[in-house]
Parts: sequence; structure tokens; C-alpha cells
Amino acid sequence: MRSGIHGNLTAAVRYACLFSLCWLARAEQADLIVSAHYVVTMDARQDLIEDGAVAIHGERILAVGKRADIDRRFQTSQRIDKGDAIVMPGLINTHTHAAMSLFRGIADDMNLQDWLTRFIFPAEKKNVSPEMVRWGTRLACVEMIRGGITTFTDMYYFEDTVAATAKEAGMRGVLGETIIGFPVNDAPTPAKALKLAEGFIRTFHNDPLIVPAVAPHAPYTNSDETLKACRMLAVHYKAPLLIHLSETKKENEDSQNEHKMSPTQRLDSLGFFRAHTIAAHGVWLSDADMDILKRTNTGVAHCPSSNMKLASGAAPVVKMLNHGINVGLGTDGPAGSNNDFDLFEEMDLAAKLQKLITNDPRALPARTTVAMATIMGAKVLGLEKEIGSLEAGKRADLIALRLDRAHAVPMYDVYSHLVYALKASDVTDVVINGKMIMRDTKMLTIDVPATIAKAREYGMKIAQSVK
Ligand SMILES: [Zn+2]
Repeated sequence: MRSGIHGNLTAAVRYACLFSLCWLARAEQADLIVSAHYVVTMDARQDLIEDGAVAIHGERILAVGKRADIDRRFQTSQRIDKGDAIVMPGLINTHTHAAMSLFRGIADDMNLQDWLTRFIFPAEKKNVSPEMVRWGTRLACVEMIRGGITTFTDMYYFEDTVAATAKEAGMRGVLGETIIGFPVNDAPTPAKALKLAEGFIRTFHNDPLIVPAVAPHAPYTNSDETLKACRMLAVHYKAPLLIHLSETKKENEDSQNEHKMSPTQRLDSLGFFRAHTIAAHGVWLSDADMDILKRTNTGVAHCPSSNMKLASGAAPVVKMLNHGINVGLGTDGPAGSNNDFDLFEEMDLAAKLQKLITNDPRALPARTTVAMATIMGAKVLGLEKEIGSLEAGKRADLIALRLDRAHAVPMYDVYSHLVYALKASDVTDVVINGKMIMRDTKMLTIDVPATIAKAREYGMKIAQSVK
């Protein structure tokens, strides 16, 4: 009898083990499962999944779906359940100059030309070095990650240092070495800057986080020869081109006087758009210019804070979208053209600015605005197959936002909330390329106190240098 009970128990245990082995064999392995009350996918159907989850393996998303289904399909060693929260694709900043965070607020309330020639260019001459770029970029990465930005698009000097710092922070970047028609701290001539850009592209070619780019500053700061050389370099390496375009009315007027063409027509005549181009601002684009941008699949980085602060004008975003142009959002700055890296603020301002200039509160609705900060931003960068939405096979770049603060309740519409109510400070968790970068508001990749202390130190040094 005794041995009978023992035998039965053994059989039961064996059966249970076999059963769980079968289950384990059936369940696919994930490295991380993130779940929340709302999963905003931003996929082609704009699926919003209630009680949803995202399964991640390595650098990529395995599956997105109902939490119960994901739990049935996958087993995981790491699980993050955010409860009453939103999980969505990481935000994409399509235009910035990260290291300029150390010039934040150095000169405000003046026009672009005065700001550039009287303050920024002299301050850069005296202060820009690899070390300054390292700390400025690190500071920017802290602010961007905290605000839910997982990809940034950057134009600056010593861009190899920007790239190395972004990688340390675990951030994704489309980063362009600046080419400009006067001596700067990392290159005495545009030709030397082009050589730097080529070395930079070779170093970061095929990097999982960095897309190296060529960044001629603007049509008005570069000769036709330099612009053509930039295009040839970009085409040769299949690298994107980053440029400021039609930011001010004066830029357009000067171009008409000097070249008898708009800045966009001039670039087109130089074959510039043969490389995938990301044009920042586009405030003063004509219908003919927009036709060119559409024909050449050029993306536009709309920077409403910057355009408003410098009184550059209101970019015709609704018109651009109607032309079929991809428009993303950018913070620009943050020296004097914005002063922070907050894409939630840019979403809010972008939507409201279009309503104001079109006299139509229906213009640029919340859903389209969220798309500009995510999947359309990815299209602007030519990275829509990799990022911008939560879909199986894409890179695992996602963020979570809390919904328990006064300004977040009640919630009737997720997209409306994301644009008009929620704030960068509601972001609690950030995953980039499958890696936890911020967990419950704790930064995991950057020493934040050391970065803040260094930024203060630089602030004092920079203030002295421009006295
Ligand atoms: Zn800019």
C-alpha cells in the first residue's frame, strides 16, 4: 500500500514535470515583457490595445498584443507591469543640436541673425571642444530620455563625440557632422569638415544605434560647391543629409536676390535631394518648393517652439501634409531657440499653432500630431522599417507614462491626452534597442548628479568667456 501511494505520487510528479516541460517547450522565450492598461502602437491601423503587452527579445519586438495572449505565448525572465499607464513608441526628435544645452538661455529674445552672429558663433568659437561636446550631449541625453525621446537627430561639431556619448547613454541617433562656410573649432575649412564627416561615417557605419549623416548647416552658410560635395559624400555612403531650410523670410529673400531661386529650388538644381534629406524648419516653403520636397521624398523637421521664439514664422504644416510630405517634430536649440528638449511641449504647440494660423480648430488633430512625434518622424528619417511604432520585428524603442497625476485624470482619449494634457515628466520608463535605459524614473546609463555638476561648471566658464 505504502509503495502504491509512493508509486502514484511519483507518477503524478513525473506527469506534472512532463506537462510543464511541454508548456516550456511551447512557450517562446522573451527577454522582457512590458505591459500596461493602454498600449498605443502607432501601427498602420493605429491599434490601441487595452490591457496590452509588448514582448521583447534582444534588440527587437517579438510581439504586441493583449496581455493575456502575450503571457500565453511567451515566458520571460524580466517583466515590467506598469498598470494604469500608457506604453507607446519612443518619441523621435527630428532636429536638434544636443551639445548646445550648455548654451541654454545664453541670449534670448532676439532675432536669429543677431542671436547667431553676436552670441552663438562667438561663444562657440571660444568654448566648443570635444570635452564640452561630451558633457553638453550627456546633459541633453538625460533631459531627452527623461522626456521619452529615444531617437534624436543632431547637427553639430565633433559629432564623433556626440555619437560616442549617445551610445554610452543607450540613445539612438541620426547624427551629422556640420559643414559650414567659415572656420570652426573642429575644421578650418568646409573641405576639412567634409573629410571629418567621411571618417565619421566610416566609423559608425552599420552601428545598431547610430546612423551617421552629413550636415551642411544651411544653404546660406555654404557655397554651391560645398553643397554638391556634401551630396556626393552622402550618396556615396547612402548617408542622410541634414540641413536647415527656409527658416526665415530673409533667407528666402537673400536667396532670390543672389541666386534667383528659393533655397529649395537652389538645392534641387544642385541635385542635393538625391541623398535622403531631412530639412529643418521649412517655414517659408512655397507650393513649388513643397512639390520638390514631395517629389524627392524629403522629410521636414517642424520645430514650433524655435519658430515661435525666434519669430521666424509659422510653418505651413497642414499644407505640407496635404502635399504628402512627411513632417516630424524637433526641439531645435536648446540655446536660445527653444531652451529645452521637450517633445510633449512641441506636440502641444504644433497642434495649436496650426489651428491658430488656419483659423480652424480641426487642423492638425491630436492623432496626426502623435504620428508626427513617432511613426511619421521615423519616415522623415528614413527609418520607418526600424522604429516609430510598436510592431513585431521592429527595434524595441518604447516608453511608459504614468496616468495618476492631477493633470492626467480623467482620460477619455489617449491621443488627446498625449498632445494636450500629459507632460514630459510623466514618462517613467524608457527602453531603447531592447535595453532598459530608465526604470521607474531612475536613469540607468548616465551619472546624473555628475552631469548636472559639470553643466554648472561649464555655465560659469561660458558666461566668463562672452563677457
Ligand atoms: Zn537648428
